[in-house]
Amino acid sequence: NPLARARYLTSVHQLRQLPPDAGREVAFAGRSNAGKSSALNALAGQGGLARVSKTPGRTQALNYFALGEGRCLVDLPGYGYAKVPEAMREAWGRVIDGYFRQRRSLVGLVVVMDVRHPLRDYDRQMLDYAAARGLPAHCLLTKADKLGRGEQAKVLAAVRRELGDAASAQLFSAETKLGVPEARDVLLRWLEL
Ligand code: GDP
Repeated sequence: NPLARARYLTSVHQLRQLPPDAGREVAFAGRSNAGKSSALNALAGQGGLARVSKTPGRTQALNYFALGEGRCLVDLPGYGYAKVPEAMREAWGRVIDGYFRQRRSLVGLVVVMDVRHPLRDYDRQMLDYAAARGLPAHCLLTKADKLGRGEQAKVLAAVRRELGDAASAQLFSAETKLGVPEARDVLLRWLEL
């Protein structure tokens, strides 16, 4: 698993702090508490890689994890946390907007969503950013272990129907590791690893 080579590289608060725009990177987006850190940890097979957030909305940086050979995973700041002040939300919007517009090494977007609350407002906005650039997007419907098999299948079918050609989607669980190999395949393909 080449993702096991992931090592924390840097945290970016402003666009001018971004590492050189070379190589290939995949960005992870998701609402605060959706399970994004846990998904990153499960994919890298490393418990402590991305901090599993205890304070939602606190981590406002883009966190870079290097895989070697110019490949990176980028943990985007979580969104949708109600208590984040308006000014901070605006700053977040500017950074994310600029990142999607200018980042040439960005080759794909993973949107992590709680299987029980898929495709909320900001999730759709992230997918719109990807679509605007013609960037491939893949949705992880995580915490699938919280639903029975029948419910899981129903949500997956509904999400896939709604996404159409805009993005692919799969069930995922950091808890049971459901869907980990499938998600890794997507990342390795995008990263050409
Ligand atoms: P983030 O804010 O999106 O990075 O979310 P975290 O990864 O910190 O997870 C938020 C909470 O959901 C934590 O309490 C996790 O233990 C829990 N969680 C994350 N993934 C799963 C999962 O696949 N199954 C279950 N049951 N809980 C999960």
